[in-house]
This record gives sequence, C-alpha cells and structure tokens, in this order.
Amino acid sequence: QTIEKKLRKVIRDVYDFPKEGVIFKDITPIFKDAHLCEEIIDVFESEFKDLELDAIVGIESRGLLFGFLLANRLKIPFIPIRKEGKLPADTYKQSYNLEYGQATIEVHRDAFEPGARILMHDDLLATGGTIAAASKLVEKMGGKIMCFAFVVGLDFLNGKECIRPYCDRIYTLVDY
Ligand code: IMP
Repeated sequence: QTIEKKLRKVIRDVYDFPKEGVIFKDITPIFKDAHLCEEIIDVFESEFKDLELDAIVGIESRGLLFGFLLANRLKIPFIPIRKEGKLPADTYKQSYNLEYGQATIEVHRDAFEPGARILMHDDLLATGGTIAAASKLVEKMGGKIMCFAFVVGLDFLNGKECIRPYCDRIYTLVDY
C-alpha cells in the first residue's frame, strides 16, 4: 500500500470546524500510528536527501511535529515559526492577511545564518497564506528556500500558486 493510500484511510473530515461550512481535514489520527509517522519521515528523508539542507523551518502548531522529526532524522537544526508573542528571545515579525483581519508570525533573529538552505514545512497547505508569509520572513533573513514539504495539500484552494514564487519544488504526500 502506498503512503498516500494509508494517509487517506486515517485523515478524517470534520464538518463545520472551526466554523460552519468548513470541512476540516483532521490529521491527528496519523499520530496514533507510530509506523505511519516513521514512514512519513522515511519518504521525506529520501525525497530531500540530495538538497544539502541546512535547516528545517516548521510552522506552529502542527508544523512543529513532523518538522522536528524530519530535522532530527536529517541531523540538522529545526527552526520554529510561531504566532506573535510566543517566542522568548529577539524576533523578526511578518504580518499577513487572513480572510478576516490580519495575523503575525515570528522567528528568532539568530535562527539561521544568511545563505542557509532551508526546507519549509507545515502539516497542511490550504490557501498558502501562512507559509507564504513565513517564506517572506525567511528570505528577508537571507535564507535560501530549497523546497516546501506538506503532509496534506488542499488543491482546490490553489496554495501552490501562492508559494511558487518562493520555490517551485512543492511536495505533498496526499492531495484533496
Ligand atoms: P493557509 O494559510 O490558508 O494555507 O492555512 C494553512 C494553515 O492552517 C496551516 O497551518 C494548517 O495547519 C491550518 N489549516 C487550514 N485548514 C486546515 C485543515 O483543513 N486541516 C488542518 N489544518 C488546517
């Protein structure tokens, strides 16, 4: 069985979350299957081995999970990007537009050196707004975005078009 098939079996649709009319892809059942988690990291590892990565950037909150596991497997640093006010040391910030209003994300100023080869990760690619803001922040700091890796892509929201300007190597394990 392919990893795509296995993921399709366990990822579940939750209706009207976080608000009415939205069908939320719940990936938490993946975490109950340690072998499947390991397989996700195996696939990412073999896919990105050749990129000579210096660090993995993962987005709060579910992007911290597989992002950290992958960094640890590749024996490279993991860099968390978090919502405003969560990171304790000096940060750079980036604001971006949501459907209603604005959001701000932050990263530590000393997270990586200019020229670092970065893999950008989140659990799920929806509109791409969040990871695009994170990418802008990473580029402002001199990072080189080598690829994007997601567990899930929601193709109908065209997130790939939103992030392609930063790097066109965009990898998803399962698309809806
Ligand atoms: P975007 O900025 O629209 O691409 O939204 C992506 C962010 O929202 C990611 O950090 C996801 O974790 C979260 N997200 C949006 N929709 C879903 C969903 O259906 N399931 C899980 N997470 C989601």
